[in-house]
Order: sequence, then C-alpha cells, then structure tokens
Amino acid sequence: MNTNIEKSKALFSAAKEVIPGGVNSPVRAFKAVGGDPLFIKSAKGAYIYDADDNRYIELINSWGPMIIGHANPIISDAVKQAVEGSLSFGAPTEAEVHIARKIVSMVPSIEKVRMVNSGTEATMSAIRVARGYTGRDKIIKFEGCYHGHGDSFLIAAGSGMATMGVPNSPGVTAGTAKDTLTAAYNDLEAVEKLVAQNKGEIAALIIEPVPGNMGCILPKEGYLEGLREICTKEGIVLIFDEVMTGFRLAPGGAQELYGVTPDMTTLGKIIGGGMPVGAYGGKKEIMDHVSPDGPVYQAGTLSGNPIAMASGRAMLDYLSTHPEVYETIGATCERLDLGIRAVLDKMGLKYYSTRLGSMYSLFFGEHEVVDFETAKQCDTALFGKYFQAMLKRGVYFPPSQFESLFLSTALTDQDVDHIVTATEESLKEIL
Ligand SMILES: *Cc1c(COP(=O)(O)O)cnc(C)c1O
Repeated sequence: MNTNIEKSKALFSAAKEVIPGGVNSPVRAFKAVGGDPLFIKSAKGAYIYDADDNRYIELINSWGPMIIGHANPIISDAVKQAVEGSLSFGAPTEAEVHIARKIVSMVPSIEKVRMVNSGTEATMSAIRVARGYTGRDKIIKFEGCYHGHGDSFLIAAGSGMATMGVPNSPGVTAGTAKDTLTAAYNDLEAVEKLVAQNKGEIAALIIEPVPGNMGCILPKEGYLEGLREICTKEGIVLIFDEVMTGFRLAPGGAQELYGVTPDMTTLGKIIGGGMPVGAYGGKKEIMDHVSPDGPVYQAGTLSGNPIAMASGRAMLDYLSTHPEVYETIGATCERLDLGIRAVLDKMGLKYYSTRLGSMYSLFFGEHEVVDFETAKQCDTALFGKYFQAMLKRGVYFPPSQFESLFLSTALTDQDVDHIVTATEESLKEIL
C-alpha cells in the first residue's frame, strides 16, 4: 500500500507558494479527484516513482508520449548523443529534414509539415493557416474536444446560443469567441445546421477524430466520413487534431485507421518522444500559404530544436519500423478492459467502457457515452474514490474521469492482472 506521501505533500505546499495551484498544467493538481498530487522523481518502463519512493503502474505515460515506456534507451540514447552537439542552433538541420520526411510518409494527409513546440502551437497555427487560405474567419469545434489553450478553442456553447460561441475562460475576448462555433460530437446534423447558418464563412472544422479529452469516445459509423463530405462540399478545411491519436492508434493515426483523410493534421505528444514538440501539416496547396513561401506568418526560436528532433526522430523511426507495437498494446488494452469488465459485472456495477487501440476509458454510469453531455452524466465522485483507492494500490490512473488512459508497450500482462485485482479490492473498499 502506497500511503506515505509526506514528501509529495511538502513539495505541493512549497509549490503552491510560487506556482499557480502548485502545478504547471491544471489537471496535474488532482482537483477532479481530490487529494494531493504526487511529485514524481523518476520513471522506468511501465513504472513511475514518486518523491517518497512509492512505485506505481503508469497508465498516463505523460498523456501519451511515452508509448514505448519510460526512459527507453531507444529514445534516451538518441537524446544523449544529440546533447553533445549543442542544445540549439536556430538554423536548419538534417534531423528536421529526416523527421519531416518520416511524418509525410506516415500520415496520409500530410504532404508538407511545419514543426512547432507544443500541440497548442500546432492547433493555433493550423487554424491561422486555414483562415489565411480560405479568407474566412469562423471555425467549428466540438463540445468536449480539447485543442490546447489557444483563445479560439476555449469556447463552450452556452445553452440557447447554438451559433454563438461563449468563452469559458476569462481573458478570451467576445470578439474571438464569436468566431468559434460549437457542435456536439457525433451529431452530423448539428454541423449541417451550423454550416447552413454560416454559409461561406467557415474556414475550418477542427476535431479530435477519436476524442480523448472527454474520456475516450468513439466516432459513430459514418460520422467522420460525413464531416469529410460536408467540408469538401463547402470548401471548409477539415483539420484532424491528432495530437493524442497520432502515432498512437496507428502509425498514421486515426485517419489511417478510419480511412478518412483530412486537409490538415495537427500533431504533438508522441511526435516528440517526451520532448516538447508539435507539428502541423497538410496538403501542399494549403501549406504553401505558410511563411516564408506564403503570407501566413508562423515562426519559432526553438522550433525544430535538435534535441527534440533527435528524440522525436528516434520515436518515429522506431514506430514506423515496428508495426507489431500496435497489436501488442491493443492486446494489452483488451486484456485490461475485459478484466475490469469481468470484475464490474460480477459486482453488478453499472459502467460503460470505451477502447480503441491503446486508449481506454471506464465511465461509471448506465448510459452509452457518445459525446460530452453523456460523458458528464457519469458518476465523477465515484471515479474520484476509485482513483484514490487505486493509487494506494500502486496504480496511477489519469486524475479525471474525462481523460483517456494511454498504455505503453512496457505494460506486462502481470501489470494488467494487478490492475484488475486492485480494481476489485478498490471497489469493495469504496462501495
Ligand atoms: C494535449 C492536446 C493538445 C495540446 O497539446 P499541448 O502540447 O498540451 O499544448 C491539443 N490537442 C489535443 C487533442 C490534445 O490531446
């Protein structure tokens, strides 16, 4: 039992004095599940160690990037070697050519690609390019889909304001919000309606093809194809935000898996192998609008950073030459899902679980979860208790009902069996 977290508690107190909420990204603060966040000292393979030397089985993997396990020498060695040649130049390098060619070869929609430093930068830049390309201002996004913290994306639809975006963060101006239209995920008609009401004004439709930021949610049959059709017909740039799903669901992401090719794609997380990297790319015709070829400005002092490129390059080289990775983690994820379901069925607990490849969500509730509304109806209080009980048993779930699990190849069947046993013990304790 991991019950001594004194050092984490002390660090959290100290952090709160000098860092807002004690963390550099909100979900890390455990607000959604209660309790104090763990401060992490190190990680190796499928295990992560906190400041008090407790060991946990990792189910977050830095929100995706550590798909081949922590401190994997394939990545670490490439980084160590790159460090010797200086940390940054602010000038082009061979590694950037290599990684760009690799991305183009892996991701169906990408003919040209620009590297940035985060997923947020990738999505912000992609919609700027889509706006520059189409000469239109508005974008459509989906409730519960997360695209980083750019102003245009921090918008929720207020009830009764179906066509007018309302910011859900102070600091986002009404001017910005009015250009973001929102629709429910998995509802094609809602998109058709928005498009009809804003004819000729919509530059881009941006979507997580398989959302992972309201828990893992699966697209209904024909949904992504339907969006593709609408965008083609209306001259709207279809952007798949594959920051999470890219290189995770398949070497070419969700677009490869579903056979639906967007006009642009945004990438992040796995693409840097753990270093801060993002990218956006798409059709040549669109990407040729980016500076210095075209008029749409976008730049970065540390973009294409040699250490980040070495890390990302090692990751993509590995994934593109080891297709069995996807089968292996898919099988691990299935074992986890079936194991947990057997426990919950035996206990007669109502739940809904979603799984695709190595993404997995367990929702406590009776209903099918198909969008943000149905995700919000789940028992988040029970999830919080489950999270805490699992943590004590050495299993580190994402600290929110609305986050997907991201498995790594380092997770063994024994680890999975431990998670299943811990689930049974945890639920017996809290119910
Ligand atoms: C994580 C995420 C982002 C933001 O990426 P950052 O690197 O955190 O800025 C954008 N879109 C999706 C789908 C994400 O999961």
